[in-house]
Amino acid sequence: MERILTERLFFALWPDAATRAALQACMPRRTRGTGRPTPEEKLHLTVLFLGRMTPAARRCVESAADTLHCQPFTMQFTRIGYFPRSRVLWAGMAEVPEALAALHEALGNAARSCGCEVETRAYSPHITLLRDAPGHLPAPEPVAIPWQVRDFALVASRTSAGGARYETLRSWPLQ
Ligand code: ATP
Ligand code: MG
Repeated sequence: MERILTERLFFALWPDAATRAALQACMPRRTRGTGRPTPEEKLHLTVLFLGRMTPAARRCVESAADTLHCQPFTMQFTRIGYFPRSRVLWAGMAEVPEALAALHEALGNAARSCGCEVETRAYSPHITLLRDAPGHLPAPEPVAIPWQVRDFALVASRTSAGGARYETLRSWPLQ
C-alpha cells in the first residue's frame, strides 16, 4: 500500500467541467510548455486551509459546517496573475465576491472555535494554473470565465512519494 507522508485538510470549491475546461484554455500562450500545469481534475479554489487536524477537531469543524447558511453565488474569473515567491500562475478576480468572503470568514470562525489555528493573512482567492512558472510575467490576457458555485467541500491533500493527491471527504450544498 502507498505510504502517506502527510495529510492536510482544506475547504475548497471545485469548478464544474465547463469552468475547468475554460480555465485550462485561458493559459497564456507564452507559458505553454513551461512549468507544471495543474491537471484539469485538480483545478480548485481554496476557501480555507486547515492543515493537519486531529479527528476530534475535524468532527467539530464538520458539525459547524453543517449549520452554515450561504447562498449559491456566481463568480467571474477576470484576471491571470503571478505570485513571484511561489512561482505560481493563477486565475482570479479583481474583487472578492461578497458571498465568497462570507464563506471564508464563516469557515474561519468555525475552525477557530474548534481550536484550529488558521491563517490570519488577507484572503486572496485564486486557482493555481501553473507551478514553477517562469519568472517573467506573461502579458495579462483578458479573460471572463463565469462559474456558478453550488457547493463547498472538505478535502484531504495527501502526500506520498508519488506527489500530492486530493480526496473530497464531504461536501455541503450552498442553500
Ligand atoms: P504540494 O504542496 O504537494 O505541491 P498542494 O499545494 O496542492 O500540493 P497542499 O499544500 O496540501 O497541496 O495545499 C492544499 C491547498 O491549500 C492548495 O490549494 C494550497 O494552495 C492551499 N494552501 C496550502 N498551504 C496554505 C497556507 N498556508 N495558506 C493558505 N492556503 C494554503
Ligand atoms: Mg502546497
